[in-house]
Amino acid sequence: MDHFLYRDGALFAEDVPISEIAAAVGTPFYVYSTATLLRHFKLFDDALEGTDHLVCYAMKAASNQAILKTLAQAGAGMDVVSGGEYRRAKAAGVPGEKIVFSGVGKTADEIRTALIGGIRQFNVESEPEMQVINAVALELGVNAPITVRVNPDVDAKTHAKIATGKSENKFGIPISRASEVYALAASLPGLEVIGIDVHIGSQLTELEPFELAYNKVAELTERLRSEGHNIRRLDLGGGLGIPYTRSNDAPPLPVEYGAMIKKTLGHLGCEIEIEPGRLIAGNAGLMVSRVIYVKSGEDRDFLILDGAMNDLIRPAMYEAHHDIVAVDEPAAGVEQRPYDIVGPVCESGDTFAKQRNMPPLKSGDLIAFRSAGAYGAVMSSEYNTRPLIPEVLVNGDQFAVIRERPSFDEIINRDTIPEWL
Ligand SMILES: *Cc1c(COP(=O)(O)O)cnc(C)c1O
Repeated sequence: MDHFLYRDGALFAEDVPISEIAAAVGTPFYVYSTATLLRHFKLFDDALEGTDHLVCYAMKAASNQAILKTLAQAGAGMDVVSGGEYRRAKAAGVPGEKIVFSGVGKTADEIRTALIGGIRQFNVESEPEMQVINAVALELGVNAPITVRVNPDVDAKTHAKIATGKSENKFGIPISRASEVYALAASLPGLEVIGIDVHIGSQLTELEPFELAYNKVAELTERLRSEGHNIRRLDLGGGLGIPYTRSNDAPPLPVEYGAMIKKTLGHLGCEIEIEPGRLIAGNAGLMVSRVIYVKSGEDRDFLILDGAMNDLIRPAMYEAHHDIVAVDEPAAGVEQRPYDIVGPVCESGDTFAKQRNMPPLKSGDLIAFRSAGAYGAVMSSEYNTRPLIPEVLVNGDQFAVIRERPSFDEIINRDTIPEWL
């Protein structure tokens, strides 16, 4: 469910007409709904009610500080995967003790930043990384709270680029080596082992892979406890999928996910942490774009938009589907026609959809990509010297630009010419 609905023939974000935002900020742009963000956060928070837990928003999905602040004020922690994200979370007012540091290649500098600024825990991904965290903690005279990310070798049954829980993936340490690695952790004086971490992938549309992984984590918890480790927190990662189309095969709901967590892990008495990103932000955002031209090709028609793959790369990168709707609601029963929907970038990969049925559209019309809130703006670039597009946050009948479109001068002046030229 989201808060982007038609009213009197026009698409709204909560109580604001999309066309009004377009007139104010120009196209293309991203727009997020506060109500949808909060609703999705609360679904997870409620799903774990009755268990000691913290929902840490995986901010790589959409990391604008206004989004972080919205969620943090509702009680969310943050899952960060870089020193930059750590700083951004702090800048948005998130306290260090609610920030979890994930990621397969944390550098000594990043680790130092987090240890100085405060950190809930590091999710350690390898023995060399563990040694570096230990060394930095000793150098600073502090203790680094850690979990070890285990790789449970389960098939997440999702797109290969976002599956992370098979032994062939670069993530975590094999669960079969966990005893050895936890023994190493316990021997390092700068570390405090607090729990176990697992994250098997993104856009999972079934509970079964999660359940397989969490059962392995339950077994491992008991084994590590019997080996003397005080396992008291389980970080279960993110990855619950969202419906990208309005079809019947919707992914499981957070409440079902929460019930499964309680069933598989509830008896262990651990604090539960989850790191959802996509499900919180994905359907809380649209990318709005304008039709520049309708072009008739040899055997097909093209809608050429002012938005492109540099603004929303998911279709090019993951073969992802986004529902694309007209901002002016089509009249009931109007005849739809197939178009290839493309951007102006100079490669054929810049195609959002092929032979997609759309209502009649003409140059100047606004369209909206649904489900674009996660892995949209954060993955955008300035390829073709196209400025990063603005982000807008709606809250009831108010809206605010939360990231401005840079000017061409700002972009061009970022380059420096060496003195020999
Ligand atoms: C990407 C990621 C997440 C979030 O995944 P979603 O599919 O967006 O929920 C959570 N934890 C880790 C470690 C990640 O890398």
